[in-house]
Amino acid sequence: MSIAIEATGLSETQRQIVDLAREFARTRIEPHAAEWDRTGYFPRDVLDELGRLGFLGMCTPEAFDGMGLDTLTYFLALEEIAAADASIAISVSIHNAIPTTMLVRHGSAAQQERWLRSMARGERLAGFALSEPESGSDAGALATRAVRDRDGWLLSGTKAWATNGGTADLMVVMARTERGISAFIVPTDVPGYRPGRPEDKMGLRASNTVAIALEDVRLPADHLLGEDGQGFRYAMEGLDVGRLGIAVQAVGIARRALEHAVAYCAERRQFGAALREFEAVQFKLADMATRVEAARALTHAVAGRIDRSEGFTTQASMAKLFASETAMWVTTQAVQLFGGYGYMRDFPVEKLFRDAKVTELYEGTSEIQRIVIARGLYPRG
Ligand SMILES: Cc1cc2nc3c(=O)[nH]c(=O)nc-3n(C[C@H](O)[C@H](O)[C@H](O)COP(=O)(O)OP(=O)(O)OC[C@H]3O[C@@H](n4cnc5c(N)ncnc54)[C@H](O)[C@@H]3O)c2cc1C
Repeated sequence: MSIAIEATGLSETQRQIVDLAREFARTRIEPHAAEWDRTGYFPRDVLDELGRLGFLGMCTPEAFDGMGLDTLTYFLALEEIAAADASIAISVSIHNAIPTTMLVRHGSAAQQERWLRSMARGERLAGFALSEPESGSDAGALATRAVRDRDGWLLSGTKAWATNGGTADLMVVMARTERGISAFIVPTDVPGYRPGRPEDKMGLRASNTVAIALEDVRLPADHLLGEDGQGFRYAMEGLDVGRLGIAVQAVGIARRALEHAVAYCAERRQFGAALREFEAVQFKLADMATRVEAARALTHAVAGRIDRSEGFTTQASMAKLFASETAMWVTTQAVQLFGGYGYMRDFPVEKLFRDAKVTELYEGTSEIQRIVIARGLYPRG
């Protein structure tokens, strides 16, 4: 069996997209990922190349210059990128999932023409700023304010841990107005938009994660996305899709750790035999492979629900919870199988182990996913 995505059962389009993503990941991402991790370098040029290939508009309708792919094909491509480097995958995932979804569903025709088209063509990289220093899981408690200013808006506040915040061309920023929480399109070159220094993180070190100070950011009226006061609902819709991107990212991380472990256990010899000959090792590898397969299957099942226009909030949380805990567990086992070498930066599983952790934290921690899932069990409660 193949640990990677198998070609059988894929349509011709899916096979082509997977091949393109895999080849790009193999040649343009993976050879550099360890170096980017060491230096904390965000390779914007690689994102631009992915954009030119269409990977920043995977599910965006073709009418807006996107690829118009179904969700499953998007997940297949994202897994290839995540298996090569989770830092690149998170930029691709957030851009495709949250600002893009919000613009497709709620943007005006003029906003779609102006912003969505260039995002889908990869000419503009986008991010999403919801979290704040005092409101993470309790995102609805955000304090950033937007007040009406002549015929536009004035934004002030502080955002925390915004992915792409220092490198994107535009951010969808959530702020409180008189009517509730609203979403704003904020070009990052507007006066008063001040990204902080990139955070010094445990993993995902090549991803750009910054605090953003919004100091009287003046925006024209047409930068309000959708209806005033409805932004939190739009953000939660975007996060449902975003969470699945994290589930796919986790599957990619876990799959690569398993691939490394399988190869290593065939080569490394102790007590006169390859590690793969020991039953305890075989059982560990079997459990790792089973969980990777299960996490991928669960995530793909939710892709089917999206493409059939069925509800998927609870299932997205299940997939994100299961896949992220799988990534953490599988990478832990991979480090164990590598022994002391697994603890060394020269070997790849150490980075995968560090990268896995964040999947249990962002776009809703595992505890928040369990709350969402439990709520789904009592729909009227
Ligand atoms: C690398 C990285 C990138 C990120 N990118 C973005 C981004 O692009 N945009 C953005 O808006 N945000 C981003 N975030 C923020 C991320 O979404 C938050 O960190 C996350 O939502 C958790 O919020 P918090 O860190 O404030 O933790 P807290 O909410 O303070 O939670 C701390 C602990 O308490 C638990 N907890 C909280 N409430 C409950 C409860 N009711 N019941 C049980 N347990 C609870 C949590 O599960 C957690 O274990 C990013 C974070 C990281 C680390």
